[in-house]
Amino acid sequence: MTNSEQSPNQQLKQNNKTPDGGSSPDPRLRFGPLDVFIMGLLFFSLINFANFGQSSSPEVPYSQFKQQLREGNIASVVIRGDRITGNFESSVNDAIAFTTTFPPLEDRDLFPLLEEQDVEVVVRSDEQPTWVLILINLLPWMLIIGLFLMASRALRGKAGGGLPGGGMFSFTRSKARLSQKEDIKVSYDDIAGLSHAKQDLGEIIDFLKHPEKFRAIGAHIPKGILMIGPPGTGKTLLAKATAFEAGVPFFSITGSEFVEMFVGVGASRVRDMFTEARKVAPALIFIDEIDSVGRARSNIGIGNDEREQTLNQILAEMDGFNADEAVVVLAATNRPDILDTALTRPGRFDRKVVLDLPQREARLDILKVHSRKVPMAEDVDLDQIAAGTVGFSGADLANLINEAALLAARDGNTTVGNSHLERARDKVVLGEKRESILSTAEKQRTAYHEAGHALTAYHMPHADALRKVSIIPRGMALGYTEQTPKEDKTSYGQHYLEDRIAIMLGGRSAEKLVYDEVSSGAANDLQQATRLARHMVTEWGMNEKLGALSFEHPEQSYPNQEFPLHKDYSEHTAEMIDEEVRKLVSENEARALATLREHRQQLDQIAAALLEKETISDTDIEALLGPKTKASA
Ligand code: ATP
Repeated sequence: MTNSEQSPNQQLKQNNKTPDGGSSPDPRLRFGPLDVFIMGLLFFSLINFANFGQSSSPEVPYSQFKQQLREGNIASVVIRGDRITGNFESSVNDAIAFTTTFPPLEDRDLFPLLEEQDVEVVVRSDEQPTWVLILINLLPWMLIIGLFLMASRALRGKAGGGLPGGGMFSFTRSKARLSQKEDIKVSYDDIAGLSHAKQDLGEIIDFLKHPEKFRAIGAHIPKGILMIGPPGTGKTLLAKATAFEAGVPFFSITGSEFVEMFVGVGASRVRDMFTEARKVAPALIFIDEIDSVGRARSNIGIGNDEREQTLNQILAEMDGFNADEAVVVLAATNRPDILDTALTRPGRFDRKVVLDLPQREARLDILKVHSRKVPMAEDVDLDQIAAGTVGFSGADLANLINEAALLAARDGNTTVGNSHLERARDKVVLGEKRESILSTAEKQRTAYHEAGHALTAYHMPHADALRKVSIIPRGMALGYTEQTPKEDKTSYGQHYLEDRIAIMLGGRSAEKLVYDEVSSGAANDLQQATRLARHMVTEWGMNEKLGALSFEHPEQSYPNQEFPLHKDYSEHTAEMIDEEVRKLVSENEARALATLREHRQQLDQIAAALLEKETISDTDIEALLGPKTKASA
């Protein structure tokens, strides 16, 4: 989510400008009277602790002291216990004062000598003055109480009733990053597509720009808007651009940044963020990944206290807004299904803006936006790239352009060509190319495996068109067969899905046909085919025997749910589901096998072409087998 466009965010700490652009002292660095008192106490205690009983006069040997006394160079002495401090008549080694210690044996000569030399003598009791003794006894307690006061203040947080100023402990401070309007460099012009979302947020922009207009007429503006969409569809970008269009400060934070190990810290951070936002209102707060705090609360289990308190605080703050406070909260999630219903109640996040994966037209626009600053060669066909990037999010497309630019720079080119974009696309979709680690026999088996997928796809009537087949290992795969739909699809017909299962199992079927055995290389194909078949049977009502019922397994749809709900069907039905899934998979495997057996010669042709070229395109396949005649769904 974070990329260069979002990075100019600055920590509030570092960028504490007033809304009019001026600077004000950072409130985090102000110390309240209690802070000063505590710091003074600690300082005093430490100094006393370190210095107590120490004299600043240099220590001299007793013999040297006696020598100076005999020479008449001692002006005065103070005797306390076995310690003697005093002053010289004239300085010795640049010192005018001294300290020395009585030897353990009694020195009977000392007092007569002092008298003889006419030295001023003061004898003091060995005992410390009472106030010093009290202080010594109290020191450790003072230290403990001082530290305790500071820690408890830090936990309570300023807005939780503490004194102004946050003190030295700032971990209850909100971690929200504040971007002033002049720091936000993203406008609605930089966002391609998403016209519905932009339209929905238009009213918010208007409100943030002219809150008084709305207030005058008594209109209620939504306090919170929930942006829902898969990762990378531009939720953060849109929130930021909304703040830019409205010309207001932008606070951004992710849900997980609130929650810490200590209960109460998250709630403090929420309070702090809202307080800061109110100070600079009108303002926009953006909470990314709200699901990490806004998950449905459960009655069971322990360990959710911190999350719940944080969520409660967010709700309380949102309830607490009054009409004069032009603070709008945008929150983003890609898991709306797990959100606590309290969040979506009226007066909270009651408006929803849905951001879908971009369709072909929008993909083209996003590619255009991101290629603005990248010099493109003449041969670049962005429309073709848009057609071949079904399922890509805005972030994937931005990444694709960047990868292509990197490849072009690595090749020493000054412009990005179509081949760079194609290579970048393969890298984004399939992962980085790997050095071939396959033996000749394994390579041949892989060629047949991929040829099996490709040939089944070629012959299945409802399959998507073939785009590319390769036996170059990429990411985790040893080879790949790529198909692209003619148009973006939002729903899939039953025949199309059955053909997909057959194609997924086409690789394994080819191995069976050619080698009379299967290999472990088809594990992923099996996984995908089984999952698809299960969806068809349990969720999409595509099974005669089970009928038009949904048997969605709760754990399936809420994988992060801490406490899975009970499945609401019997063991007998569960067995039937398993049976029907198995039937669906094996029937389509049989179809794939039959197709390959019927066109065995074509299978050999494709495998041979793959072994020769490693990667073949749709045009190569058409040259080998002729154009596909059966209508594609
Ligand atoms: P996440 O759910 O992972 O937080 P997100 O939905 O917040 O993702 P963003 O972080 O806003 O996605 O998008 C990432 C990047 O993708 C953007 O910075 C931008 O470069 C690009 N992008 C996404 N959608 C668009 C779009 N509609 N137009 C232009 N660029 C886009």
